[in-house]
Amino acid sequence: MLKVYARLNLYGTQPFSPFTVKFVLHLQIMQAYCHSLTEYKRLKTREVRIGDLLMGNFHPIRLQTMTTTDTMDTLATVEQSIRCIEAGAELVRITAPSKKEAENLLHIKNELRKRGYNTPLVADIHFTPNAAEIAARIVEKVRVNPGNYVDKKKFELIEYTDADYAEEIERIQEKFTPLVRICKEHGTAMRIGTNHGSLSDRIMSRYGDTPMGMVESAMEFLRIARYESFHNIVLSMKASNPQVMVQAYRLLIQQMDAEFGECYPLHLGVTEAGDGEDGRVKSAAGIGTLLEDGIGDTVRVSLTEDPEFEIPVCKDLVKRYTSTTRITTHIPDIEKLTYDPFNYQRRESIEVGNIGGKQVPVVIADLSKAGKIEPSTLERVGYNYDAGNDKWNISDTAADYIFTGDQLLDFALPGTLKVIVYPQAWKLATDKEKYYQIDGLTSYLNSTEKSQLLNFVMVDCYNKGEILSANNLSQLAADKTAVLCLSSTNDHAMPSVRRMLVELQEQKLLNPVVLIVDSNWQTTDEHLIHYATEAGALLLDGFGDGVCFGMTTNSYQQASSASADTSGRNYISNTSVEQFINSTAFSILQATRARISKTEYISCPSCGRTLFDLQETTAKIRSVTNHLKGVKIAIMGCIVNGPGEMADADFGYVGSGVGKITLYKGKEVVKRNVASEVAVDELINILKENDAWVEPAS
Ligand code: SF4
Repeated sequence: MLKVYARLNLYGTQPFSPFTVKFVLHLQIMQAYCHSLTEYKRLKTREVRIGDLLMGNFHPIRLQTMTTTDTMDTLATVEQSIRCIEAGAELVRITAPSKKEAENLLHIKNELRKRGYNTPLVADIHFTPNAAEIAARIVEKVRVNPGNYVDKKKFELIEYTDADYAEEIERIQEKFTPLVRICKEHGTAMRIGTNHGSLSDRIMSRYGDTPMGMVESAMEFLRIARYESFHNIVLSMKASNPQVMVQAYRLLIQQMDAEFGECYPLHLGVTEAGDGEDGRVKSAAGIGTLLEDGIGDTVRVSLTEDPEFEIPVCKDLVKRYTSTTRITTHIPDIEKLTYDPFNYQRRESIEVGNIGGKQVPVVIADLSKAGKIEPSTLERVGYNYDAGNDKWNISDTAADYIFTGDQLLDFALPGTLKVIVYPQAWKLATDKEKYYQIDGLTSYLNSTEKSQLLNFVMVDCYNKGEILSANNLSQLAADKTAVLCLSSTNDHAMPSVRRMLVELQEQKLLNPVVLIVDSNWQTTDEHLIHYATEAGALLLDGFGDGVCFGMTTNSYQQASSASADTSGRNYISNTSVEQFINSTAFSILQATRARISKTEYISCPSCGRTLFDLQETTAKIRSVTNHLKGVKIAIMGCIVNGPGEMADADFGYVGSGVGKITLYKGKEVVKRNVASEVAVDELINILKENDAWVEPAS
């Protein structure tokens, strides 16, 4: 089925009995997780019917979201569903925490149908098989979480023998089969939706908190469904960490292919992504990476915002693959992968100055379109000049280099900042420890004037531009000052750059690599998604010792003239283009865990279980903690799922009753049922007690 690579099928083609526990042995690292790494081809999946909607088997990638209203409030849920549908949602998910909400889905569905909306509804189930069995008779699809459908999570580490484990699987089969049979009888679809944060104690005990654990968690349920000859199934592998999420989906595809010889449709999402720019960047890095390889049949972008605002982001993610005007030059096939797509490992490179080796990726800010550069211009990229003290204040998200085109600067620069210019300007620069040149490959190799320290060399990968010949490669390999700046004008740009990186690995070239991404999109979200997909996909596989993002002249002019925005969703119009791009670069490095420079927020999108205003509370917590570099704070709407799903957060703020908040350090409760009016102050106290607090700069 996946033609490029050989398949290892440990299960043979016999129907699999769920009573038999077999574990996949990784006898060799399999590389098969998509049809092609160099050509855009959708992954073939089974066709699934959800009401009148078909999914998988090359049907368009479906867009979906989830309501945040109380499911018992029929009118509010109907009206919010309609806003989502009008925005373009093709499926709407509604939480059904208990039997009464599951029963109320009928009223919601009837009202929607009465108003002429036939969009399929999905019941979201955690912990309550009886609610699932009711919902499956009413709505078109049910989502179950294999981490908590049968198991109750107590964060216990249990030693299982193979016999114990098989007994557990038997217990799951007993509890899960009735739902499968109801779905089969009523033509209801099902999503087996694994969450990294809510794996059962059983899976955690055997596989740990790993992508393989996530995959096995879903596979156990999938085997039971297949045993019942039920195939109307979609799967998801969500995590708030895009690296874990991407690896888990890839591994799931590989495992389904190995065990069944076919794949079920995949629902893509990054959980608890948060809000605003960070939420979009995290989602795009995870979802976009998979979409680039043709993976994904439906997407949900989980934002801590009203659900209808998720849909335009889904559309922006998906439309990149529906364009009929893509200009794609052939990219040579990859015969053998030189990296492991299932385990993160940073590409080995040498250190050239502060770039490469084990150093964090650098950020190069493109100021070439900013006009005359004054000290105040550098505020856009994290440097504030204090004229009174003649001192530069440098933020945690200050760019490491600026690219100014042909412009040499006429003021003293901050000590940590260096400037990249074209060769003609570089020749005129007097301080060769501050200024470095960037040149095209051929021109650089033919040049006799080079820095003894650091030179940037541009390569346009697999387009009409320069190709790395054997001679070029050996010259670059011998040059310990050359940092390669890879970009591609090919419309299939990320795979072109990735292919070049594979070529560098094959040829054992260790020069550091800066990923250059230009955007010619128009809106803020389109730019964010473009940078996060193109660079994020490479960073997640360990590629990139630096990033440099820019805009084409048209996009830059359009973004610069964007009028002020009061919705808070157009980040460019409220800042400058350079500030937006610089902040996006650091967000992408943070989302891909390549460079941590700010506080990380893991906030759930909220749903009918939410016990406080999540958007307002998240904004409040963010405003007092956003200077805590590297601290991960989770803000979760309910105590039922929140603690399980807040993944690897350092501290948690979780709704535990009306007006009540429970505060966590890791998975441990520190203060239970604190009044919400003082809960943020209490959170700060806990941060202080645990040495995670620093006073904000005045
Ligand atoms: S953690 Fe948030 S989204 Fe998840 S069930 Fe609870 S309130 Fe709903």
